[in-house]
Amino acid sequence: MSDFEKCVFRFGNGVVDGAHSTQDVLGGKGAGLQEMVSLGLPVPAGFTIDTSVCRHYLKYGSLPAKAEQQIANALSWLETSTGRYLDCPVNPLLVSVRSGAPISMPGMMDTILNVGLTEASVKGFGLQNGSRKFALDSYRRLMQMFGVIVFKIPQVDFARILAAVLETEDVDSDSELSEDAIGSLADQFAALISSKSGDSFPQRAHDQLTLAIETVFSSWQSGRALHYRRLNNIPEEMGTAVTVQAMVFGNRGMSSGTGVGFTRNPSTGARELFGEFLMNAQGEEIVAGTRTPMPIAELARTMPDIFRELDDVTQIIERCYRDVQDFEFTIEDGKLFLLQTRSAKRTAFAAVQNAVDMVAEGIITKREAIARITPVNVADILSPQLDLTSIPDVLTQGIPASSGAAAGIVALSADQAVQMASGGDRVILVTKETSADDIHGMAASIGFLTACGGATSHAAVVARGMGKCCITGAREVRFDEKGLSVTIGTHTFKAGDWLTLDGSTGRVFEGRLGIHCESKNHPGLDTLLDWARDISSIGVHANADTPKDAIAARLGKAAGIGLCRTEHMFFAPERLSSMRAMITATNVKDRTEALALLLPAQQQDFEGLFREMAPLPVTIRLLDPPLHEFLPSLEEINADITYARRDENWEHLLVLESLRERVQLLRESNPMMGHRGCRLSLTYPEILQMQVRAILQAALMIADEGLDVFPEIMIPLVASAEEARVLVEMIHQAAAEVLAGHRPIQYSVGTMIELPRAAICAGQISRYVDFVSFGTNDLTQMTYGFSRDDSHTYLKSYLDNGIFKKDPFVTIDESGVGYLLKMAIAQIRSVDPSIKIGVCGEHAGDPDSIRFFSSIGVDYISCSPSRLAIAHLSAAQANNCERTQEAAEISLPVLV
Ligand code: PEP
Ligand code: MG
Repeated sequence: MSDFEKCVFRFGNGVVDGAHSTQDVLGGKGAGLQEMVSLGLPVPAGFTIDTSVCRHYLKYGSLPAKAEQQIANALSWLETSTGRYLDCPVNPLLVSVRSGAPISMPGMMDTILNVGLTEASVKGFGLQNGSRKFALDSYRRLMQMFGVIVFKIPQVDFARILAAVLETEDVDSDSELSEDAIGSLADQFAALISSKSGDSFPQRAHDQLTLAIETVFSSWQSGRALHYRRLNNIPEEMGTAVTVQAMVFGNRGMSSGTGVGFTRNPSTGARELFGEFLMNAQGEEIVAGTRTPMPIAELARTMPDIFRELDDVTQIIERCYRDVQDFEFTIEDGKLFLLQTRSAKRTAFAAVQNAVDMVAEGIITKREAIARITPVNVADILSPQLDLTSIPDVLTQGIPASSGAAAGIVALSADQAVQMASGGDRVILVTKETSADDIHGMAASIGFLTACGGATSHAAVVARGMGKCCITGAREVRFDEKGLSVTIGTHTFKAGDWLTLDGSTGRVFEGRLGIHCESKNHPGLDTLLDWARDISSIGVHANADTPKDAIAARLGKAAGIGLCRTEHMFFAPERLSSMRAMITATNVKDRTEALALLLPAQQQDFEGLFREMAPLPVTIRLLDPPLHEFLPSLEEINADITYARRDENWEHLLVLESLRERVQLLRESNPMMGHRGCRLSLTYPEILQMQVRAILQAALMIADEGLDVFPEIMIPLVASAEEARVLVEMIHQAAAEVLAGHRPIQYSVGTMIELPRAAICAGQISRYVDFVSFGTNDLTQMTYGFSRDDSHTYLKSYLDNGIFKKDPFVTIDESGVGYLLKMAIAQIRSVDPSIKIGVCGEHAGDPDSIRFFSSIGVDYISCSPSRLAIAHLSAAQANNCERTQEAAEISLPVLV
């Protein structure tokens, strides 16, 4: 806590008390004023009372004695330097009393203008300004602001009186009122204050000032300020500074005015003075919308000298802060004053453009440019966004699993989605959950909404892979028994009804809302990401299952494919039947025959991947999911059996009955902990042999085309070193058979670490492999014992109740799962310091997790192609961290 030895800082007339004080102490506004004065810019003199005084006032309800003394001293300095005096009826000093927090909270706290005017000084003030009408008008404005802010009298009470006077005078706006009418308005406002507050309007200017300062401090606790802080994670204990500044008047006639502006266009980033102004007006009229302001370019026509000066001085400020500024100015009788400057709020598009332009202009470094862009900025630019101009009621809110927005017609099954999309419709697939069986419907849809699932469930993973919008775990989505309709919140939808999804927030809306995606193309972003790749020390690879995904990976400048989930290749209808034949085979011969049918298709896919990615590495994972995922459900088979009986199709009936027997046999209580991953290769080595053959035959083909191929074969769900040893041997044996008599192909063999036991024994396991990749989806599932597909129901309440701060399937749980990672990496490095270590779970696309992975020595991450841009940026920022701290003195913009 401050000892208040120095808590009031003067500025103006060559005095700069707070040149070395930070924004934390003086607030953004106070610090900006000190800076502008030290740059020699035209700023009305004043003083700032720092945030420590606010904290004291809010705690004890009074100002500290030392602060009162310093305020009195600063005030008498202000009086001397302006030649005007508080409570002097002949030559009164008028001041503004403004709030200004360390982090910008625009419009959330209070400001009072014209403080110091009393009945006794109106006359003198009128003489000072050559207009009694102007003096009366300033007085009634003060009473209105003071009445609302200090005495908490509703604004409408003042508005009602004003409306009545306007009507009596038969004019449209207050600027047209006569002197007498304004005088009457002032009398009525004074009477209103007396009647509503039981106190008359203070007639001692010093009392006005004290009340104004205390009220502005109190406005830190106003409902809207509290709400804003909560929304934007601004610490409660910060407090606001208060600035008391000599008034300058933009409402002193047609050579006076007031305006707000930006040093660059805040929506496009273009390098042009941007903003608006009003002649003969005070600042709040711009915001109030009672008069329509003019674009600032118009000032160049009406007051060219002032425009030029404004352009020059604001450029100076921008250079000083090395960031785009938004500023407030007043012109008083043809003289320009700056009242405020701060880092400008801007769109994501503008933020990227500004950062890249400022590097080209030599204002900031490339590293600073990278530090200034947030992953949210990148997501905003790359994914379609909801048009936020008119948002209706939210039907329900689920987990924002894949960002972007989509408006389309509802399809209630994958087949229906395909059928609707074939007619040219934009389709949103709404289901309880999705499985690998639904891929065709997902490919045909533009977005997915599921009642179940979480951030790493099937729908979420596939949506990110496809770069589509997805909301999972929307609990208020209920299907009717026949599957003909779905009720979302209170509204029931049939197939073909319009629905809109906002995948960035998880909100679901009825109907067709506007969506814009015009900013997808941003050359500035490409440049910025090129710089990011140059400084990043962690490789960014893509998870890609098909040649089409590989094209997206190349476009996103992935350094290779870090995970190809081969099971996704088996779901195409023509492959599924061979896959089912392989699974239902009861002996090796039948299984091998079925696998032989799958081999050409799988090889063709690998050729496509290698061709697209050459000369980059491609990591292909052997078959992972439980086999029953490829089979129809018992319900479906039973239905088919009924039809076969009815149609007396005896041959088919026999096939179905043997299928049912096999499905019953394969059914598992806990499939995720069942016969899957490397266990499949150990029990059915033919699967491994077919896949290794397909990989290496494809590699030979592509090498024959003259391209460089680097296949990396990855084993899933290993738990023990012995599993790894046996499987690696099997892979090398199968490879040797394929490559015998052919050109050598350089391939490597690695394993995933996605079980806690594998992490604990990672050192032993790593002895047998060339690389390891952490599957953090399964590792999170198995460490917590939370199902990745079903835990959303209770996870949501964990998050709502603050038991968890973040969804562990979205952001890596550093202390638990992260601890396993750290421990495993230490073991692995002690066995082989140069072994390649990656992460290919969904966390590899999450900025916070990427920072963590980078800090624990992961070599590369692999994420969905649609998240590559964010991953490149986050990887560079993780590496940039220390330098960013150094650069922090230049107060990076806070983009809310
Ligand atoms: C993982 O478990 O993190 C992983 C990448 O594998 P999958 O998501 O396919 O289970
Ligand atoms: Mg896994």
